[in-house]
Amino acid sequence: MTRLDSDAYDYDVVISGASVAGSAAAVLLARRGVRVALLERRSDPSAYKVLCTHYLQPCAYPVLDELGLVPALEKAGAVRNEARWYTRWGWIEPKAAPAGPELPYAYNVRRSTFDPMIRSHAAQTPGVDLLLGHNVTGVLQEGGRTVGVRVSAPEGEREIRARLVVGADGKDSSVAKFAGVPARQHANERFSYFAHFRDLPLRDGITHSWFLEPDMAYAMPNDDGVTVVAVIPDKKRLPDFREDLEGSFLEFVRSLPEAPPIDSAERITKITGTVNYPLHSRKPTAPGVAFIGDAAITGDPLWGVGCGWALQSAQWLAEAVAAAATGRGDLDKSLMAYARRHRRGLRGHQHLAADYAKARPFNPFERLMFSAAARDESMARHMHLFASRLIGPLRFLNPVALAKASAVNVRHRGVAGPPARPLHTGS
Ligand SMILES: Cc1cc2nc3c(=O)[nH]c(=O)nc-3n(C[C@H](O)[C@H](O)[C@H](O)COP(=O)(O)OP(=O)(O)OC[C@H]3O[C@@H](n4cnc5c(N)ncnc54)[C@H](O)[C@@H]3O)c2cc1C
Repeated sequence: MTRLDSDAYDYDVVISGASVAGSAAAVLLARRGVRVALLERRSDPSAYKVLCTHYLQPCAYPVLDELGLVPALEKAGAVRNEARWYTRWGWIEPKAAPAGPELPYAYNVRRSTFDPMIRSHAAQTPGVDLLLGHNVTGVLQEGGRTVGVRVSAPEGEREIRARLVVGADGKDSSVAKFAGVPARQHANERFSYFAHFRDLPLRDGITHSWFLEPDMAYAMPNDDGVTVVAVIPDKKRLPDFREDLEGSFLEFVRSLPEAPPIDSAERITKITGTVNYPLHSRKPTAPGVAFIGDAAITGDPLWGVGCGWALQSAQWLAEAVAAAATGRGDLDKSLMAYARRHRRGLRGHQHLAADYAKARPFNPFERLMFSAAARDESMARHMHLFASRLIGPLRFLNPVALAKASAVNVRHRGVAGPPARPLHTGS
């Protein structure tokens, strides 16, 4: 086994999980001179996560850009993710200001396209050893610090020692389990089902989201002319829904305002979903360990944020620890810097999401901001920045924005809105 330095580390960093977070971190660390082992328990280089509706939020764009993946995504037909959102006050339709910059975007791209793309990008990056079929089965610890992993590999069991072990192994992170880092769970009172369609036209060819309080639905155009349609109802509806899954799914979609014409489209995947998907949050570091992506925070699928956060957390980690991971700095301090950046970026969003996951209707702040966004273009742009996770809750709900939303709504009093639509009631 190659020893890289007198401390007998095999690698500077070993990453468990070669999906979105792990592959991105491997590239970004290796480009900064870090020697990386990227371990993936699955042996198929084209493996991808099936349980995902693959909307990469605009917050992911700077990371995709740094990774150098934007041309490949465009070439693969990934769809820039403009969106319109249905609310009881009408549609929120963010548009660039006249003569203003274009709205930030990233991409809708199927995981069957994206996962192999980002993983092969990592494999081709000098400094990254992608080791497929390598299942992390334990961590090595010395003096209370994690110093490597135990792995079950095609050639047998082995140990890999590294200065830093990164858990990029998803919401049920085995690294976290072995290193004894628990997760805090928040109940999710909605369930979700989705399927992919061809020949499903959507107005302006853009993503549609329906806020039905408390239910939710999406239709999102992706690469290769494929549209994913998702329904995310209150769990109270689950027993009825399950009695005839296919019929319930189709009926739910048909009943949406400006419903996508699914009956004339071709369904190309089965209806897939999850009926219990709690949110998880975990301390993003422990001695000798960092967590990125879902292993650190598993958001509510309803918001389509997990891949964006996986990419962002990979970038934050690489920026914070690259120097120390090669022995040029204090690794513990670097990990603290990463943990701070992670908390600053995501904690507020996760807090709001955990509350909304109670399947409650909008609270007074949400009613104020969403109604104003449906009525006013600049409020719609403000909402777009928040939904894109480019600004956090504090900036979204800053006093100026709240005052402006109130003024928009006062001006709007007495102006006829769109016809009132019945909301899904959960019955
Ligand atoms: C229904 C649903 C819809 C969603 N829709 C969206 C969406 O529209 N947009 C969005 O951004 N996010 C969405 N998400 C969330 C998104 O799928 C995740 O946030 C994202 O995949 C997290 O990426 P990750 O790299 O952290 O983890 P994962 O993609 O879960 O990858 C973990 C990797 O680790 C590997 N691994 C696990 N254990 C080991 C081990 N012991 N040894 C070695 N390897 C291991 C796995 O094989 C896997 O490759 C959705 C989630 C759900 C459930």
